[in-house]
Amino acid sequence: MANRTPLMAGNWKMNLDHHEAIALVQKLAWTLQDAKHDYADVEVAVLPPFTDIRSVQTMVDGDKLDIRYGAQDISAHESGAYTGEISAAMLAKLGVSYVVVGHSERREHHAEDDALVAAKAKAALGGGMSPIICVGEGLDVRKAGEHVEHTTAQLDGAYAGLTQDEAEKTVVAYEPVWAIGTGEVATPENAQEVCQAIRARLAELYTQGLADKVRVLYGGSVKSSNVATIMAQDDVDGALVGGASLQAEEFAAIVRYQ
Ligand code: PEP
Repeated sequence: MANRTPLMAGNWKMNLDHHEAIALVQKLAWTLQDAKHDYADVEVAVLPPFTDIRSVQTMVDGDKLDIRYGAQDISAHESGAYTGEISAAMLAKLGVSYVVVGHSERREHHAEDDALVAAKAKAALGGGMSPIICVGEGLDVRKAGEHVEHTTAQLDGAYAGLTQDEAEKTVVAYEPVWAIGTGEVATPENAQEVCQAIRARLAELYTQGLADKVRVLYGGSVKSSNVATIMAQDDVDGALVGGASLQAEEFAAIVRYQ
């Protein structure tokens, strides 16, 4: 994994109100502190719904927790008549570190294309936050053996217009769509093949030095029982965790994957 600090990020999706959010972060912090294991070398982040972010911020700041937090989406626009959208400035004001862009659920249910993903990544960076750029193939593409080409093409789209300085602050999440929320986890070799291809593409688009720095996460039915073998792969630098991040003990066990 070279010198990259692993990142374990919990995507809560559309779950938990702000009371439940506080309870989960509190329990997660206790569970991590109680553990004899050292997780100091792993960065931990939670990605709550927008309505929970302020509560999570208060909790994290008040108790000086070593937990970062982020948003699951962002507007590509700066401000103005965009009903229902949340801007980079609003998120930055809440101390947000990460913003997920291009999650397959947004690509599928909200028709987000590569150009919009690129604009959202740019907006997050403009607000001083790191986008977690999600890429990954559906089952049909995987069966056709075109998963590497598909995923690297999504990467080209998402990084279009990002400077070297901006790209350096990004995180990539390889999430094969057929593995998200299905219990169908990619094999460690599947994950390594695509994460390695992603890094190679970043080296082509920018420099090898940048590719060596950017963290590439795997996401798709990660659990405490399968995380260690996935994390053992050279080009996997962490996990984007959905369902399993809603239980404090389970997510804490994922964080302490060794
Ligand atoms: C996700 O939502 O990004 C995800 C990987 O979900 P799950 O872990 O539930 O498959």
